[in-house]
Amino acid sequence: MRLVKTIKEVREIVKEWKKQGLTVGYVPTMGYLHEGHKSLIEKSVSQNDRTVVSVFVNPTQFGPTEDLASYPRDIERDKALVESAGADLVFNPEPVEMYGSHFTTTVNTTEVSELLCGARRPVHFGGVCLVLTKFFNIVTPDRAYFGQKDAQQLAVVRRFVKDLNFDIEIVPCPIVREADGLAKSSRNTYLSKEERQAAVILSKSLKLGLEAVKNGERSSAKVIDIITKSLETEKLARIDYVEVVDNENIQRTDVIKGEVLVAIAVYIGKTRLIDNFIYKVED
Ligand code: AMP
Repeated sequence: MRLVKTIKEVREIVKEWKKQGLTVGYVPTMGYLHEGHKSLIEKSVSQNDRTVVSVFVNPTQFGPTEDLASYPRDIERDKALVESAGADLVFNPEPVEMYGSHFTTTVNTTEVSELLCGARRPVHFGGVCLVLTKFFNIVTPDRAYFGQKDAQQLAVVRRFVKDLNFDIEIVPCPIVREADGLAKSSRNTYLSKEERQAAVILSKSLKLGLEAVKNGERSSAKVIDIITKSLETEKLARIDYVEVVDNENIQRTDVIKGEVLVAIAVYIGKTRLIDNFIYKVED
C-alpha cells in the first residue's frame, strides 16, 4: 500500500494498472476514517482489481463560518485503516497541489442541490462537484463508492456524473452505525459525553418515522411531525431540517410514493449531524 501526495504520481501508477488491464475502484474521503469509510473501501476492493482512496479535506466545500480548520485529521491512522481494508493507494494531496494559487473554474448542479443541506450550505455541493471532477479526471476509476449517509451528496453525484458523461459507475453503500444507532461520522468526535448520548435521538426519531411509513402512513407532513416531535424530546437537540423528498431529484413530495428520502439535520450543541432513511413504495 502506497501513500502519494502528487497528481503526477497517481497518474503514473493508474496508467501502469490500466496497461495491465486492471479495473480501478475509487473512494473519496475527507479522512479521519471510521468503519463507514472502511465499508466503502472493502466494497471497492471486492469489486475491483485495484482501489484508490483519497484523503483530502476539500476547502472549496466549506463555507466561511464552517469547520474547515478544526476538521479532524490523522493521516497515519487513516493509512493504517486503508491498508487493513485492502486498498492499494492513498492519495493525500495538499490544497495547493489540487488548486494551485489561482483557480477560477466552477462545477455545480441545480435542482438536486437546492434543498436540504444545499439550502443551508450554499457553496457546499459546488465544492463537492468541483473536487470530484478533478479527482475523477486524475484517478480515472471504473467505479466510485459513496455512502448513503450523505444521501443528497449521492443524488448530486449521480446527477453530475450523468449530465457530464463521466464513464464511471457510482456505487451506493449503506449507512454504518454505532451499536446504539448513531450514524458513524468523523464529526462525532466533536461531541462531549453528554452530547454523544443525546445524539442517539436522530436515529431513534427516524426509526419512528420509518415505522409509521412501513405501517402505511403516506402523508409526508405526518411523518415529518412524528420525527419532529421525537427530536424535540431531547433538550440538547436543535432541528435544522426534517424533510421528505423524492430520492432522485431531491424535491419535496406531499405524498410518500416511489422512492423517497426522509432526511434530517440536527444540531447537538454546536455539532451539526445528518441522518436519513430511504423508503421505496412498491406499487
Ligand atoms: P467524508 O469523509 O465524510 O467526506 O465521507 C466520505 C465517504 O464516506 C462519503 O461517501 C460518505 O457518505 C461515506 N460515509 C461517511 N460516513 C458513513 C457511514 N456512517 N456509513 C457509510 N458511509 C459513510
